[in-house]
Amino acid sequence: MEKPTLKLNKQIPDVSYHSDELKMILVLGESVRADHLSINGYNRPTTPKLKQQSGLISFPNVYTEHTYTAVSLPQILTNQGQVKIDSEYYSIYDILDEANYKTYWVGNQTLEKSYAPIVKTNDSIHLIDAFKSVFSFDKLRDESLIPVASNILKEDRRSVISLHMIGSHWWYEDRYSNKEKKFNPVIDSKYIPSLTSEQLINSYDNTLLYLDKFISKLIGVLENQETPTVLVYISDHGEQLGEEGKWLHAQSGEAAKNPAYLIWFSESYTKKYPKVVTNIKEATKINSTTDRVFYDILTLLGISFEKIKQ
Ligand SMILES: [Zn+2]
Repeated sequence: MEKPTLKLNKQIPDVSYHSDELKMILVLGESVRADHLSINGYNRPTTPKLKQQSGLISFPNVYTEHTYTAVSLPQILTNQGQVKIDSEYYSIYDILDEANYKTYWVGNQTLEKSYAPIVKTNDSIHLIDAFKSVFSFDKLRDESLIPVASNILKEDRRSVISLHMIGSHWWYEDRYSNKEKKFNPVIDSKYIPSLTSEQLINSYDNTLLYLDKFISKLIGVLENQETPTVLVYISDHGEQLGEEGKWLHAQSGEAAKNPAYLIWFSESYTKKYPKVVTNIKEATKINSTTDRVFYDILTLLGISFEKIKQ
C-alpha cells in the first residue's frame, strides 16, 4: 500500500489565545466505528458507562475518506483536509506550542513513517510497548497508558497529552480482558474465512466494552484535576464488519469511513467556557468530516490562528 509522505510547514502563523490553566487528553482511537457504540444508538450495550457519563457528547455523523492509520492520523493531526490542497501542513502540536501548551505523546503503537514527523513535534514522546507492532500477539493493553498520563497531568498547568491506542485493531481477542468477554461466542482462529460473522462481531463489540471502561477511567482521572479539563476521543477510521463481504479496514468500504468521535468536558470547564460547550454540542447534530477535529481542539483550548497565505 502506498504510504504518503508528509511535509510539515514550520512557518507557524501568529496565534491568539488565552493563558488560562487548562489540560486536555486527546485520545487517538483505532478502528472504532461510530454505529457500534450504544451511545450512538447501537442495539447492544457496548458503552454502558459512557451512556451514564455527564459532560460527554458524541458526534455520530463524522466521516473520513482515510481508512488506515498511516493516512488518517496525518490528516487528523494537521490542517490537511479530506482533499489534499497544499503540499505542506501545520502540525497541531506546533500550533499548541505557539500557544504555550506543553505537549506529550504517549503511544501504544510503533510510530509509522507517515506520522512520525508529526509525533516528533511534541515536547515529549513516550512509547509504552515500542518494540511490538500492532500485529504482535502479546501486546500490552491500552490501560497501561493511563498511569503514564496520570503522572504527566501532575507536571504542568497547561498541557495536552495525546494517547495513541491499539484500540480495536485486529486481532480483537488481545484487546480486552475476560471482564469484557460479554458477547459470545468469540473468534477462535486468526483465519477469517473459518469464522462466523457472529463470532467476529461479538469479539469486536467486546473491544468496545474495553474502550468504554478505558475512557471512563480517564475521565475519572481528569475529574480529579484542580484545573478545568477536557477529553477528546477520535478513532482514526472505522472497520468493515462483513458489509460488502469485507472485514477489517484499509480497503474501500463505507463502514470504515464513520469513526467514533466523543468529547467530554469537566464541570469546571463547562462553567468557565459555556459558549464553547454550547457551540460544540450544536455541531453534533450535523454531518461533518474528521477535518473538524484539528479546529475543535484549538477552539476547546481557546486558540485561533489565521493561515498564512502562501
Ligand atoms: Zn488505524
